[in-house]
Amino acid sequence: MQGYIVRGLPIIKEGDDIASQLQSLFDFQDGDVLCIASTVVAKSEGRFRDLDSYFPGPRAREIASNIDKDPRFVQAVLDESAQVLLDHPFLLVATRFGHIGVNAGIDQSNVGGERILLLPEDPGASAERLRAGIGREMAVIVTDTCGRPFRTGVAGVAVGWAGIAALRDWRGKCDMHGKVLEITQEAIVDEIASAANLLMGEAGDGTPAVVFRGLKYPRTGGSVFMPEEMDVIRPHLGS
Ligand code: GDP
Ligand code: MN
Ligand code: MN
Repeated sequence: MQGYIVRGLPIIKEGDDIASQLQSLFDFQDGDVLCIASTVVAKSEGRFRDLDSYFPGPRAREIASNIDKDPRFVQAVLDESAQVLLDHPFLLVATRFGHIGVNAGIDQSNVGGERILLLPEDPGASAERLRAGIGREMAVIVTDTCGRPFRTGVAGVAVGWAGIAALRDWRGKCDMHGKVLEITQEAIVDEIASAANLLMGEAGDGTPAVVFRGLKYPRTGGSVFMPEEMDVIRPHLGS
């Protein structure tokens, strides 16, 4: 397996065709896995917002005063949320497309100016579009850097994917002693996303695209977004 950092992408603007920009920098083959930072996907989709375009309601103002945040920013997070899981000491929400993240994944770094950048509205659909745009029988994973519960430090996760199964199902396979695995489903899109995130960097590197070649992966199935009814932690979070 090889990993390639795609170099040479410019600062992405609304309307940029990332698929063709990438194609001019990298010769994609069938079976490749392209990992692309949600930041640049969101930029190309015009997900910039001006903080001044938000008019915080009472809930946003109350949350903001508790956690010492700009009420306009809190309103932006609420607008992107399907459910608030924690409103202090930070805002942890479920996005409409199923990902749970602090501040709904809204970024203020690598954006430029006073603007904020929302996550793509539907990163799975974004991944499908990129895949179709490149026109290869390949996988696309849209990544974001996130904190993890119970662990310090941030890591890359998949927020959208196409052409690849989210999960590899090990159930029914035997371990080295012949014991049949009963539960294990491996979150391969997150594992790949975290490796890619390691190569992208977090600051001014300018390398939001990473390609893995020679990786064997299942093509369809599952999601890393846990259905609410299966989540035993969520009911214990009060907000
Ligand atoms: P996130 O993990 O999706 O929130 O994105 P980051 O802000 O951590 O950026 C990931 C990588 O993409 C870093 O190497 C950034 O320098 C790079 N990056 C962010 N925006 C741009 C852009 O507009 N153009 C290019 N070429 N790189 C970018
Ligand atoms: Mn981010
Ligand atoms: Mn990042």
